[in-house]
Amino acid sequence: MSGKGDKTRIIAEIIPRANARPRCSGCGKPRPGYDRMPRPRKFEFIPVWNIPVSLSYTMRRVDCPSCGIKVEAVPWAQGKHACCDAYRHFLASWARRLSWKETAACFHTKWDTVCRSVKWVVDFGMKHRDLEDVTAIGVDEVTYSKGHKYMTPVYQIDGGRKRLLGVIRDRDTRSLTSFFETFGAERCARIKVVCSDMWKPCLNVIAVMLPAALNVLDRFHIAKKLGEAVDEVRRQEAKQLAAEGYEPVLKNSRYCFLKRRSNLTIRQATKLRDLLKYDLKSLRALALKEAFDGFWQYESPRWAELAKKEILLEVIGHRHGRLRRKQLNGCQNRNQC
Ligand SMILES: [Zn+2]
Repeated sequence: MSGKGDKTRIIAEIIPRANARPRCSGCGKPRPGYDRMPRPRKFEFIPVWNIPVSLSYTMRRVDCPSCGIKVEAVPWAQGKHACCDAYRHFLASWARRLSWKETAACFHTKWDTVCRSVKWVVDFGMKHRDLEDVTAIGVDEVTYSKGHKYMTPVYQIDGGRKRLLGVIRDRDTRSLTSFFETFGAERCARIKVVCSDMWKPCLNVIAVMLPAALNVLDRFHIAKKLGEAVDEVRRQEAKQLAAEGYEPVLKNSRYCFLKRRSNLTIRQATKLRDLLKYDLKSLRALALKEAFDGFWQYESPRWAELAKKEILLEVIGHRHGRLRRKQLNGCQNRNQC
């Protein structure tokens, strides 16, 4: 134990076993000792009862016939690092739960020690990762910073194995193509399923780079397109009602149609209930959109197929031009699964 108050720390002194030959840090083989460093080196270890712990060890140098005079290798830390490997693992695993700043504050270390520990663990993982079992991937888009800046994360989404494979800085054809080129033609050929949004350049790259893969469109984007179609039906109908001199019943009703029923405010729910008195195309379009929600709950492809046909017949029956096209698209995409 050394220091007082906040500066208290446990120092564990390490003494090499008598007659144990040091290992050369160049080739890793046991070699005859050459000399000792004048002062002991400190290695930060995992805190005990929230008290910082350091290992104190006087490093030896070896006289290696292959590498020359070298500092010995120690099993608890690598190179010139002042932190034990166990401590770096410990910090990196906490940094998954807390921010790096909080991790550093909780375990009495500096922010950059946490940052370097995370980088070390990530580099190790990247170097040793196995990408041979990737058969299903997801390509998403995320906005960052201010304005329209996008990055494209690519995930493995195989059953029981979900992980981030890479983050593409931009969202354009060139960077996405370059990702798949780096990923390798053989691995690309093994990919059977790709889940993506409906962004055209992304679909084109997937078609070229992953010819064997089935492209499943993201449910969220299909739902968004259906919402847009219902909104268009509502706008057209509102215009038509105004042109024909009817009461503007659809005025201020946009979010009644766009939001999920469970998310409507009391006012919006009341407005929607009032609209039910009228025979409106927009309401039928909304009903069809909601019917499509149930489609995603099916686990059996046969029942899903029947449900899809039923919705299609309804759509065709109602002849909602734009909605019909959108729903057909959605169904065809799901059909590819
Ligand atoms: Zn050596």
